[in-house]
Amino acid sequence: MAAIGIDLGGTKIQGVLVDHGDVVADAKVATPPGGVDDVVAAVADCVGRLGRPTSVDGVGVGAPGVVDAATGDVVRAPNLPGFEARVPLAAKLGEVLDGVRIVVDNDVNAAVVAEHRLGAARGAVAVLGVWVGTGVGGGLVLDGRVRRGPAGGAGEIGHMVVAGVTRRCGCGQLGHLEAVAGRAAMEVEARRRHDTGEHTALVELAGAKRMKSSVFDKALSAGDAVARELLDEAVAALGAAVASAAALVDLDLVVVGGGLADKLGHQFVGRVEQAVRGRLFLPASALRVVPASLGDLAGAMGAALLVSG
Ligand SMILES: [Zn+2]
Repeated sequence: MAAIGIDLGGTKIQGVLVDHGDVVADAKVATPPGGVDDVVAAVADCVGRLGRPTSVDGVGVGAPGVVDAATGDVVRAPNLPGFEARVPLAAKLGEVLDGVRIVVDNDVNAAVVAEHRLGAARGAVAVLGVWVGTGVGGGLVLDGRVRRGPAGGAGEIGHMVVAGVTRRCGCGQLGHLEAVAGRAAMEVEARRRHDTGEHTALVELAGAKRMKSSVFDKALSAGDAVARELLDEAVAALGAAVASAAALVDLDLVVVGGGLADKLGHQFVGRVEQAVRGRLFLPASALRVVPASLGDLAGAMGAALLVSG
């Protein structure tokens, strides 16, 4: 059984061809800024680089934001241009991909499925995935099954309200985790501070370009005070949000992945674990916080796994 998995991100579209559980090819294209039709065309391009759509059992897509897995609609993805309101992504892709079966799910749900079946979360009963990248995504696998919820919004930890957070989130609401722990929000804050006269290597290194995860990594290594403060805030807020989630659903494993977390590595994940431990209702709980182990391809691999159900 072969399937193509696509991880549709805000900056890139990552695809894999999976045959009998093995990744046999991968491809990557940039996410166009234009809007829905351009994104659909770019996904189709990425699929085309991996094989003929009709030669596989289906194409799975992990999309950011809230997804209605039953219809394949992206309900709301604030970090993807043109996807601020409902987009029938499965239907649109089906039209351009010769009617092949399309399965769409939340991107972090897909990545957590991959980590649960093949990676760091194997054997865990109640898993929360926290993906710290452009935004902060999340996914829940409980008793081996993805918990989607009636509106498809389960696990969206980036939009949990965290005490003490006063900034506005990309979704428009106040006080959400993502407003301090997402890379894009941290960039906005770094530039705001720079504009008020604070010196920071973050703006020096990034210039007018996007403040990539590697920029945060370099600035932190150089001892930049603004970078350190932004990261301290992010870690504290992640600790509070994950501890709250653990109090609600009782978790045995939290997997931390995403572009920023991957770049900052095990030390960052260790700090998040410490912050979680400090806020747990059951401090002696066996909850562990571990780094994702499948790297950049986790989302695409999970999307391919979703095709087989
Ligand atoms: Zn939000």
